[in-house]
Amino acid sequence: MSGKLVVVSNRGPYVIRGRNKERAVGGLVTAMEPVVRATRGTWVAWGGREGGTGEFSGDGAGYSWREVPLSREEIHGYYYGFANRVLWPLCHCLVDKCDFSGAQWRVFVEVNRKFARIAAAESVEADLVWVHDYHLPLVPAVIRRQLKNQKIAFFWHIPFPPRDVFAILPWAREIIVGLLGSHLIGFHAPEYVENFCQCARDLLGARVDPVQGWVEYQGRRTRVRALPIGIDVEKFETDRRRVEVAGISRRLREMLGVEKLALSVDRLDYSKGIPERLAALELLWERHPEYRGRLSFIQIAVPTRTEVEAYRLLKRQVEEAVGRINGRFSDGKWLPVYYLYRGFSQAELALYYAAADVALVTPLRDGLNLVAKEYLIARGRQPGVLVLSKFAGAAAELHEALLVNPYDVEDMVAKIRLALEMPGAEQLMRLHLLQQRVRRRDLRWWVSSFLAQLEAREAAHHALSRSAAGGREQAY
Ligand code: UDP
Repeated sequence: MSGKLVVVSNRGPYVIRGRNKERAVGGLVTAMEPVVRATRGTWVAWGGREGGTGEFSGDGAGYSWREVPLSREEIHGYYYGFANRVLWPLCHCLVDKCDFSGAQWRVFVEVNRKFARIAAAESVEADLVWVHDYHLPLVPAVIRRQLKNQKIAFFWHIPFPPRDVFAILPWAREIIVGLLGSHLIGFHAPEYVENFCQCARDLLGARVDPVQGWVEYQGRRTRVRALPIGIDVEKFETDRRRVEVAGISRRLREMLGVEKLALSVDRLDYSKGIPERLAALELLWERHPEYRGRLSFIQIAVPTRTEVEAYRLLKRQVEEAVGRINGRFSDGKWLPVYYLYRGFSQAELALYYAAADVALVTPLRDGLNLVAKEYLIARGRQPGVLVLSKFAGAAAELHEALLVNPYDVEDMVAKIRLALEMPGAEQLMRLHLLQQRVRRRDLRWWVSSFLAQLEAREAAHHALSRSAAGGREQAY
């Protein structure tokens, strides 16, 4: 990269609490921070608080950080409103959860403009502006209007739904035009690339080629690519070794006193299919009493978006289901479901991953799902089975997992039983293939492959510009 990297995302590497700037960790920060630092770049993000004037901006850890200050009204209209009550459920094909509001859309547009203004002020032409996720789809086109030749890339981290679903959105066109301000747009799975291309073709009349991966609109060409994000494999291997040496997962198993342990780790989000999973387990213990006393299930549920009504309802629904199942089957010594409603550090998660014979990763829909990849690496050489939703982006890569339809309770019961009864040799064979793929496509692979796509695009652009000077059509 010739210039610096300017990362633009809703949440960034810091959260402001009172007078303190605290480090925020997460997949995106782990992935992007080394590159931003290497280019002495800038990170533009909201600080997760109300108000503020951006006074905490300045030095990050070897790069600069710009806080985007948001008022209470902006947070409610943009973040809790349009992003999380419209785009999130729509893109997860949960249309009945959408709450369309023109007022929230207008705030969303204004906040996107604000992010774009700050990002543009931080960039010169040689820099790459890399925008992340569904909160900020309008940013590329706004920057493009201001800085015609700016290099802009975008990564869409959630699913991109089929055209018939996306077209329900009254502002579907505006979102696609916004994204097409980019030179390159990345998605986790080929299916999302196809859906996006269809939307661009049918809603804007753009020329598209989903196989070659491009969309041409108003004389500009944007590359579209499927590049599934990876995990920090080294970190998860280190955590696993620490857990193995300390023997804590073995102690956890002894404490629970069961032969088989299943685990799920999710934010308490309606897209994760938690009630459907509990219903399947309830049916399993009902129909197959031999698993009573033998199998326990741990559900880690991290509180999230608690200001949104649908999330509060879900919490109640899940708690009722857990209470019902435990009341129905527990015999005083054995507990079927352990429900842990809080967040854990990833080092702590390693202990649960190491203890679990089966991971149930069964979202109704999920952009990718990192927990699936983390579980695989955390098993090391121990057997373990991943039961994975067909509707998680990760299913496009992790074929050797037991794929399941989370809406089909019979299929869920059958796959959970298959997982519990799978011979150790078969478990290890599948695990080995899955681990190889996760190791190869780790976090560093993801960042470098994405940046390489951008460079390839530039090389193609220069070649075509030269031939255009010779009288042929210019494609970009
Ligand atoms: N995670 C965590 N603590 C928890 C639960 C989850 O740090 O208690 C992490 C987990 O390790 C994973 C991420 O949160 O990296 C969840 O990512 P995923 O893609 O599975 O789902 P998302 O929450 O992004 O929808």
